[in-house]
Amino acid sequence: MKKGIAASKGYAIGKVLIKEVNEVKVEERKIEDVQSEKERFKKSLDASREQLTKIKEKAEKEMGADKAAVFESHMMLLDDPEFAGAVDMAIENDKINAEKALENVSTMYAGIFEAMEDEYMRERGADVKDVSKRILANLAGKISADSEEMVANTIVVAHDLTPSDTAQLDKSKVIAFLTNIGGRTSHSAIMARTLEIPAVVGLNDITTSVKNGDIVIVDGNEGTVIINPNENTVKEYEAKREVYEKEKEELKKLISVKTVTKAGKRVEVAGNIGKPEDVYQVLENGGDAIGLFRTEFLYMDRDDMPTEEEQFEAYKYTVEKMAGKPVVIRTLDIGGDKKLSYLPLPEEMNPFLGYRAIRLCLDRKDIFKVQLRALLRASAFGNLKIMFPMISSLEEFLQAKKVLNECMEELKKEGKEFNPGLEIGIMVEIPAAAVCADDLAKYVDFFSIGTNDLIQYTLAADRMNEKISYLYNPMHPAVLKLIKMTIEAAHKEGKWCGMCGEMAGDEKAIPTLVEYGLDEFSMSASSILKAKQLIMEN
Ligand code: PEP
Ligand code: MG
Repeated sequence: MKKGIAASKGYAIGKVLIKEVNEVKVEERKIEDVQSEKERFKKSLDASREQLTKIKEKAEKEMGADKAAVFESHMMLLDDPEFAGAVDMAIENDKINAEKALENVSTMYAGIFEAMEDEYMRERGADVKDVSKRILANLAGKISADSEEMVANTIVVAHDLTPSDTAQLDKSKVIAFLTNIGGRTSHSAIMARTLEIPAVVGLNDITTSVKNGDIVIVDGNEGTVIINPNENTVKEYEAKREVYEKEKEELKKLISVKTVTKAGKRVEVAGNIGKPEDVYQVLENGGDAIGLFRTEFLYMDRDDMPTEEEQFEAYKYTVEKMAGKPVVIRTLDIGGDKKLSYLPLPEEMNPFLGYRAIRLCLDRKDIFKVQLRALLRASAFGNLKIMFPMISSLEEFLQAKKVLNECMEELKKEGKEFNPGLEIGIMVEIPAAAVCADDLAKYVDFFSIGTNDLIQYTLAADRMNEKISYLYNPMHPAVLKLIKMTIEAAHKEGKWCGMCGEMAGDEKAIPTLVEYGLDEFSMSASSILKAKQLIMEN
């Protein structure tokens, strides 16, 4: 049994598919049976050719022939008799295993290309390395998930999954995922909870502990993984899954119940979403509102920025589907672990402390204004509230508000409708904002505490790093003090205070948050019902 970090609840039993070709470590072995080693090499060439043909066809369909051309040169290398001949010769002459022979030959080939003057030819060196990696992966039985048709009951195993990788997982086939790195509040873990599939992250070496086709049990409640279990263990977990599903079913009776604490305070239990269609899941789970719309997901998995019109449609759709219920939409929070392929940002030593979120938006008003105009226009169609991320000072909030006012003026001149009285709030996710909450509360309409970041900045413990996840403690007294201060500061000025970090749905934290008087709890849709139950018991 392997222990990692429980990232998304539930149980799954399925077949491993390793995503990403990992660096396969090549060790030299002396061999006797030259013929069968050559045969292994030939088989891996054939398998690679088959995979590349499929990838090329898919790429042609989805990205056009010019983008797919890169696979052409990869296939040419596979078909090059000189290349294959050189590997065969190395196996025969040096009596070494196919992996080592391939590594020797491809290093030599790549070296020749890379030493050439011509840039085009130098790039061919990268092609050689790429193809060799694939052949090696086939020799080792570790194939990229991209290159294989996924089957039902697939458990994706990867070193790491980017948020967009996670968003793209086909839920009809992928029933769970496991990664070497990451923490409970890394965005791939948050996405897993949105997808409602179990996930265990921070397993260190899961990619080398399993191979394609292995059967594994994923226990997303405990954060454990069992590789190739025996029949009894499978039965035991099937039973656990049943109990878990039953409990989930039971909680459904709370869907339309209004959440009131023991002391009689009515609180809002809301959902966090990444795209407009996620509202359905929030409503199905009895959510009173959208407490956080992470708009950066609208900007991902595409080749260019979404236009004002596209964004307007997305926000309008969301507020209309929520039919008058509050929808807090956060402006672009790119940077940290969320990147855009078409907006190259400089490499940074500390991306979570760097050029991201509101900092980037205030610097790139061209990008910021497109979004603000779309948000304002959508505010005419429902209960939309705007929230700025990563605010560290009052000046920053006032600057953001100034840009928003400019957009309001523009829209007025253009005769476009918006709600001039819409609420404008901030995320309190930088300790400085929590410490200065009394000041900020005079200017904002609401706070939403972003504990995912607030915890990592307060405790200097990277939310993505599994090695120090023991330090990442939502119940640390320093974190609790900042939360209490923020809620009290808001109330003193007659403003409301919510929380949209994962802590809002944390069963251990809920009683304390109720005691502090938190007004709104916003979380992954799958956690809403359990949270409602706990809030009502406290
Ligand atoms: C947070 O930091 O708590 C938060 C909700 O924002 P994100 O997880 O997107 O950084
Ligand atoms: Mg954050």
